[in-house]
Amino acid sequence: MTTKEEKVEGWIPRTKLGKMISEGNISSIEEIFSEGFKIREPEIVDALLPELQEEVININLVQKQTDAGEKSQFKAIVVVGNRDGYVGLGSGKAQQVRTAIQKGAADARLNITLVRRGCGSWECGCGRHHSLPFQVQGKCGGVQVVLIPGPRGLGVVASEEAKIILDLAGVKDCWTRSYGSTRTIPSFACAVFNALRKTYSFVTPKDWVG
Ligand SMILES: [Zn+2]
Repeated sequence: MTTKEEKVEGWIPRTKLGKMISEGNISSIEEIFSEGFKIREPEIVDALLPELQEEVININLVQKQTDAGEKSQFKAIVVVGNRDGYVGLGSGKAQQVRTAIQKGAADARLNITLVRRGCGSWECGCGRHHSLPFQVQGKCGGVQVVLIPGPRGLGVVASEEAKIILDLAGVKDCWTRSYGSTRTIPSFACAVFNALRKTYSFVTPKDWVG
């Protein structure tokens, strides 16, 4: 039998939560959310969600003012998810694209959130978890996004970036509406993520599991 620690190559847990996982005292991501633990090591997410997938949704060159003058850095926006109710969005900056992506992927893991799914479409009523339970909206940096539950078989009616996020979250059928500076991809992605987070803001923590 392999321990959780062996699942993530070279991981030496640095936090109390990380040690609890490597010692087998916590064996599911549900426990982390139901207990309200804060994830401070990206490896925790890999240990508990080994099927996690990641996608880079945007890379930008950003200028930063330093004492030595202007410095160019790449900024990567990365989304991770298990296509079954867990999704995270993160960003990372570095002088090399590859490092920016790695930082963004680690940040996305630390931001992983639980998405409540359901059949909130009045046209459907199948009761399965293929969409969202109700309409949610999210805001970020001048962008507002509304996610509207859709009937089974609809698919995700959204821009490419929103499709990637919703797909990795496990939301199969929904409509989206967006307002504001929606061409600003980092803000747009963040607004979609904030909307997904709201699927759990109307319930108490003890409802999170099961
Ligand atoms: Zn349905």
